[in-house]
Amino acid sequence: MPTGGQQRDMRRYAGACRYVFNTALALQKARYEHGEKKLGYAGLCKRLTEWRNGSKTPWLKDAPTHPLQQTLKDLERAYANFFAKRAAFPRFRKKGQGDRFRYPDPKQIKLDQAGSRIFLPKLGWLRYRNSRDVLGEVKQVTVSASGGKWFFSLQTAREVEPPIPHGGAVGIDLGIARFATLSDGVFYAPLNSFKRHKTALRKAQQAMSRKIKFSSNWKKAKARVQRIHARIGNARRDFLHKTSTAISQNHAMVCIEDLQVRNMSASAAGTADAPGRNVRAKSGLNTSILDQGWFEFRRQLDYKLAWNGGHLIAVPPQNTSRTCPCCGHVSADNRQTQARFACVECGYENNADVVGAINVLRAGHARFACEVSGAVMPPAAGTHRSDLSRINAGLSAVGIPRL
Ligand SMILES: [Zn+2]
Repeated sequence: MPTGGQQRDMRRYAGACRYVFNTALALQKARYEHGEKKLGYAGLCKRLTEWRNGSKTPWLKDAPTHPLQQTLKDLERAYANFFAKRAAFPRFRKKGQGDRFRYPDPKQIKLDQAGSRIFLPKLGWLRYRNSRDVLGEVKQVTVSASGGKWFFSLQTAREVEPPIPHGGAVGIDLGIARFATLSDGVFYAPLNSFKRHKTALRKAQQAMSRKIKFSSNWKKAKARVQRIHARIGNARRDFLHKTSTAISQNHAMVCIEDLQVRNMSASAAGTADAPGRNVRAKSGLNTSILDQGWFEFRRQLDYKLAWNGGHLIAVPPQNTSRTCPCCGHVSADNRQTQARFACVECGYENNADVVGAINVLRAGHARFACEVSGAVMPPAAGTHRSDLSRINAGLSAVGIPRL
C-alpha cells in the first residue's frame, strides 16, 4: 500500500536497476566482441560507481546503491547459468517485465509486523497487506511489480526441528488428460488456466492492436492484457501449490518421471534443413506442457518434501507406460488406447496413467535402494528387501539398469 510518491520512487529504482543491468550486459557483449576478458563482479561495481558519479546518468545517484549492485550480481548469475548450460544467454530487460530490485542488507531493513509496515532505504516506511506471518530473522527484501501492484518478499533464516516424514511411497504419472495420477489411483484433473482465458486474452490483444500506440486508450487496453496475464499466472500458481502441498504432506517418498520438459517443449517446427514432423500435434502438446507447469510442479514437490523430511526421486522414463506391473511384459500393444492398459500376456487391466505411476514407483524404489545401499536405513516405509530384489529383477527384465 505505497503512497503515490513511493510508487513513483519504486518505479524509478526499478528503472535504474534495469538500466544498470542492460548497460552492464551491453558492456560485456562489446568486450567479448573485442576479444577482451569478461569483467567480474568487482570490476562491474567499479564501473557502476563511475556511472553514478558521471555526468551522463546523474539520476542513478538517486537510486539506492545496494539494489544496483545486486542487479550486477543477477547478471553474474545469468552468465554463470548460461555457461553451465542451465539457461539461455542473458537478455536485455524490458520495461514492465519483471520490474524488481533487492535490498541485501538486513541492517538497513526494519520490519514492524504489528503495525503492518516496513522500512526500506530511500523509500521510508511503507504500509502493506500481510499474506502470512514472517518467521525468523530477515535476511533480504525483494520489491517487485506485477499487474500494476507492488509486492515485497522477505528471505528469512531460522532454526527448525528436523522434520519426521509421515506417509508411504507413491509414484506419479504426469499427463495431459490428467495432470497427475498417483500409483494408488488418486488423480488431479488439469487446470489449463491458459486455455480458459485464451479467448479473453485474444480479444484484449486484438483490441489493443487497434489502438494508436502509446495513446491513453492503448495504455488502458494494455493494462487489460496485463491483468489477464496476471490472472492466468495466479490461477496456475494456486493450482500447482495446492496440488504439490497435498501430495508432499501425505507421502514420505514421491517418485516422478525424469521428464526433460525443456526438450519436450523445444520447437516442433524444426529448422529449414530439418523440418519437424507432426508440427501441429506437437505444438499443441507444447502449449499444454508449458501451460500445466510440470517443471514448476516438480520444483515445488522437491522443496516441500524436503521441508517435511521426505524425498523426491526422479526416475528415467523408459517403458513406464508399456510395462505390465503384474507380469513385467513390455509391449506397445499393452496400451490399446490412450487411457486403457491391458496386458497382452497376462490380461492385467487398469487405467494407463495408474499403470505408469505404478511403474514409476517401482523404478523409484530401485533407485532409492541403490542410494542407501550399505546403509542401515530402510528404503521406504512399507517396502521390504525381498520386494526390492523382486522389483530389481523385474527392472532388469524390462531393460532398466539395476541400480
Ligand atoms: Zn502382464
